[in-house]
Amino acid sequence: MPAKIFISACLLGRPVRYDGKGKPLHDPFVERLKAEGRLVGYCPEQAGGLPTPRPPAEIESGMNGGDVLAGRARVLEVTGGDVTAEFIEGGKRAVAFAQEQGCKVALLIDGSPSCGSGFIYDGSFSGSRHPGFGVTAALMRQAGIEVFSDRELDRLSAHIAQTG
Ligand code: SF4
Repeated sequence: MPAKIFISACLLGRPVRYDGKGKPLHDPFVERLKAEGRLVGYCPEQAGGLPTPRPPAEIESGMNGGDVLAGRARVLEVTGGDVTAEFIEGGKRAVAFAQEQGCKVALLIDGSPSCGSGFIYDGSFSGSRHPGFGVTAALMRQAGIEVFSDRELDRLSAHIAQTG
């Protein structure tokens, strides 16, 4: 039985994003993984106790998820609320879920302050983004789970072809 793959729930189309919508990933490779029953969806922000919909949030001051875990940065809502604790708790729960499911790999949507792994927004809520990663991506990597973004499907496909 091939190993399960953790996936951001919004990529499966589940309406879990801050705006109450999903962001389904329409791709033949992902459809095949889904048909094979290999994808296990999870939303760290909901798991951390945040409601849906919720105000958009960004990691402050151009920092990244590693800075949040180290206590050097907060995750702030556009309305000013501090949701750092919820983001960390949700990320920890996501890692625990991935481990329970036996996942060695995670497919995470890019750009999110939780799930982003290649770029995130800089905390100014101006649409300005920079190379970086979110809180859940940081925790996944710390746990030894290899992270792929939705922009890296070719790399994920090659990885799976090698490792099963
Ligand atoms: Fe999607 Fe991750 Fe945000 Fe949940 S936390 S809505 S799974 S990007």
